[in-house]
Amino acid sequence: MQGQSKLAGKVNPAAKLANSGHSALRDGAHDTITLGIAFAAIILFVGTGGKALPPAIEALQGRGLGPDNLVVSALLLNVALILFGWRRYRQLSEEVYLHRQAEAQALQLAERDPLTGFLNRRSLSDASEELIAACAARGEAVALLMADLDSFKQINDLHGHVAGDVILQQCAGRIAEILPDRSLSARIGGDEFACMVPFDANHPERIDELASALIAAVAMPRQTGETQIEVTLSIGVARSNGVLPGNATQSDFESLLHAADIAMYHAKRQGRNQYFWFETAMDNELRVRRELEAGIRRGILLGEFVPYYEQQIDLKSGKLTGFEMLARWNSPAFGIVGPQVFIPVAEEIGLIAQLSEGLIAQALQDAKAWDPQLTLSVNISPIQMRDQWFSQKLLKLLVEANFPPKRLEIEITESCLHENVGAVRTLLASLKNQGICISLDDFGTGYSTFGQLRELPIDRIKIDRSFVSKLINSEDNATIVRAISSLGSGLGLPITAEGIESEEVLKELQAYGDFKGQGYLYGLPESASDTTKRLTGLNLLAAPGKPAQDETATAAPAPGGRQDSKTAAG
Ligand code: C2E
Ligand code: MG
Ligand code: MG
Repeated sequence: MQGQSKLAGKVNPAAKLANSGHSALRDGAHDTITLGIAFAAIILFVGTGGKALPPAIEALQGRGLGPDNLVVSALLLNVALILFGWRRYRQLSEEVYLHRQAEAQALQLAERDPLTGFLNRRSLSDASEELIAACAARGEAVALLMADLDSFKQINDLHGHVAGDVILQQCAGRIAEILPDRSLSARIGGDEFACMVPFDANHPERIDELASALIAAVAMPRQTGETQIEVTLSIGVARSNGVLPGNATQSDFESLLHAADIAMYHAKRQGRNQYFWFETAMDNELRVRRELEAGIRRGILLGEFVPYYEQQIDLKSGKLTGFEMLARWNSPAFGIVGPQVFIPVAEEIGLIAQLSEGLIAQALQDAKAWDPQLTLSVNISPIQMRDQWFSQKLLKLLVEANFPPKRLEIEITESCLHENVGAVRTLLASLKNQGICISLDDFGTGYSTFGQLRELPIDRIKIDRSFVSKLINSEDNATIVRAISSLGSGLGLPITAEGIESEEVLKELQAYGDFKGQGYLYGLPESASDTTKRLTGLNLLAAPGKPAQDETATAAPAPGGRQDSKTAAG
């Protein structure tokens, strides 16, 4: 009886609405009166009929005077009354039937989600209190499983809302099939389902099995129209008589839901498509996360995000060719924070574009003071690549800073290439037409295909630091670096090796080919002012009044054509 409400005896607003003006009770009373009238008319009919019929029959046989006129009138009146009473009774019965149907429908609408037929949040809350109490009386526990579809917004965006609705219905169907008897299931948000399941408190593994089964069932591929859409599910689980967030001691619906919600967000952060039971540490984690989010919002407004710069070197000549800008958060609460902490959060809360554009604007101003042959690389999040106006936004920043596109390099990761290759290709072509160079960052950690490398207008591959920094002690890593090196030569793509930490690695790389490189061997990423000091020492600051573009070094690129990014030699 999953999904069934047990709201008997509770006053329901929709039912109230249906009742207003025309009470079923009053209809019932009218029914009885009408039926009474018809019944009395039948008795009178029998009485008057007994008096009127024998004289009428005798008169027909030519033996008497016929019935008394008054008796005949009374008889006819009785017949009319019986017919009227019967018709009215039928009419009223029909009205009552229709009325009850409307009442049931209103009740259904008030209690249930129209798309999936599951309970809605309010009725789950009502029904769950009853379930928790009943299970406690039987010595059972109740688990609340909060299930959220992963990246459902993307499904809606890519395939449309009709397909999204179908997915939700299918998921609800699969969930309903698996839930044990006596469970309650509700849709409590766009793509959020909550299920309350009674279980033997000594066997929580039953809930583990159930959560795994739900994840597996939802993940089964489905065909929607011509496309196959894959959906995954993240689940958070809380149990009655278990630990709860904050100081909550009572396992009521709201505190269970809150705990399951926290566990569900934990599952999302751990990579999605999995489930977690609520633990108190998650509560703290969430609090820190909220502080982080608020801090990032504030930090953007207060200009706390600053660019740091890491040197990029031509490995053969040892000369500086440019810098990669790496974001840092100079937070009053947390100190200097690295991008691994705040970039994913900024992406999730929709602030990455604003954050990145602010940083790029600062970096362009910094780089204008450098020697015009030095390049500036900036990292671009896959989220920004989904923005069809990204290319125009970047061009606007370049124009505002009066910075030559030819000196700018953007670093994209392989994950961009799996979103919508057509749109990415158009975007990259547009950037390339402006003269901006494109590097494929962290190469080797994703799943780019040879086809993509050949077809997309990429100018450079950056070998991920995980292969480079352990090059010496790992034959596997050495093989991978060698393979990427020959891939680069084969496709005419120059290579940058990240994560060079030692002279041995540098020597090894120099033997592989004509690479650029970067890494702690050359120093940690530095602030803008330290970078300026470094460049002053190297005599690589732009001469005052000299344009940011070195006219000799930056000819306009051939539209769409591949170009050699190894422009500078410091
Ligand atoms: P990435 O683009 O691969 O940047 C290189 C990272 O490797 C940097 O970490 C850098 O400090 C670190 N690194 C450099 N040399 C060495 C070395 O020799 N050994 C080791 N172990 N590490 C080295 P960081 O600054 O923490 O940046 C991490 C990642 O954050 C970057 O990886 C990039 O993907 C992302 N990121 C940084 N700034 C931005 C930004 O402004 N926007 C976006 N979207 N992502 C950014
Ligand atoms: Mg990078
Ligand atoms: Mg990298």
